[in-house]
Amino acid sequence: MPADVNEYAYQLGAEPSGIRELFAYGLQRKTEIGADKVFDYSLGNPSIPAPESVKQAIIEVATSVDPVDLHGYTPAQGYMTTRQCIADNLKRRFGFQATAENVYMTCGAAASLGITFHAIAEPGEEIITIAPFFPEYTVFVGSAGCKLVPVMARESDFMIDVAAVEAAINEKTRAVLINTPNNPTGAVYSVENLQELAAMLARKEAELGRRLYLISDEPYRELTYGVQVPFVPALYDRTIICYSWSKSLSLPGERIGYVYVSDAMDNAAEVSTAIAGAGRALSFVCAPALFQRVIEKCIDEPTDVEAYRVNREILANGLKELGYEYIEPDGAFYLWVKALEPDALAFSERAKQFELLIVPSNGFGCEGWCRLSYCVSKDTIVNSLPAFKELKESYGN
Ligand code: PLP
Repeated sequence: MPADVNEYAYQLGAEPSGIRELFAYGLQRKTEIGADKVFDYSLGNPSIPAPESVKQAIIEVATSVDPVDLHGYTPAQGYMTTRQCIADNLKRRFGFQATAENVYMTCGAAASLGITFHAIAEPGEEIITIAPFFPEYTVFVGSAGCKLVPVMARESDFMIDVAAVEAAINEKTRAVLINTPNNPTGAVYSVENLQELAAMLARKEAELGRRLYLISDEPYRELTYGVQVPFVPALYDRTIICYSWSKSLSLPGERIGYVYVSDAMDNAAEVSTAIAGAGRALSFVCAPALFQRVIEKCIDEPTDVEAYRVNREILANGLKELGYEYIEPDGAFYLWVKALEPDALAFSERAKQFELLIVPSNGFGCEGWCRLSYCVSKDTIVNSLPAFKELKESYGN
């Protein structure tokens, strides 16, 4: 540990990320044996380009807005026109009385989450989440001085195990954090499952005499295959949505998203003020100006899931035929596959021998599974199936 640096920051910077390491290994391997021979299912980077309308909107904004204003500071919470446009969009799509005052523009869903934890919780408080979960939750929650408490999902379908969440709630709990559609399982929580969670949270609030928030992390909201993602604020009043266009419009590098504090919350004004304060404390003010304006123009742009749908079919059907077990993904672009041995790390290591790069479940907070990001080319999927066959055969079946 070097002197004169912050210990927590140093540890975080020095800590290897399993997913990034696997990706780096894949890049190296591709230079050694050729890109088409390596089947890299590691990263969740969208594989389809942003829609043409985004390009048109960028050109329009760049050529029509006053050049000084174009690259200037925005209000700390974001342009009021952009916030209003998002509130109107939520009203139109979900019939929910959203107001612009409760929308805060951010640099992506990661920033939305970091801001939210700082805004609602005191150090020492607990945030419950559903395992398996996005590994960065540990960092975002820890950075707010809070403790992340994982509660395993139901292993039959990876829906929320509401009884287990209830058992984890205590006088230090401040929020339950859910992610739907889910990274890494692809599960979309059903309306019944969310209603059950909401009813339990309302009961626990009364019992403990303490507010419990429901934070819904939704960067995959529009990436679904034949199911609807229930609008969580309509089910539980104390909901906060953390959203970004990183996946829905393939804009992860532009860092643009928002926090929406439900208007149905009795303390919405206070929470929104704390959101603004946390944004300020974390230096996440003035989300990218150009992209706030682009979003205003593209707010109704539908998400193109066709390429992901095709990939999902080929991969899932191919693995089913080979005898792999997996969770039928209703959303996002991940397939959650049961490892062929209890030790997922060993399974992922063995898969490398067949040039298959798959992420073991340990980093997501559970044992015995692995995640395949199918936001890759269709050829990668088709050409990888013989390797999956060999991997299975290497276990003697
Ligand atoms: N939440 C989940 C579940 C994610 O998978 C990701 C990114 O992969 C994020 C949040 C962060 O999204 P963003 O890139 O918009 O910050």
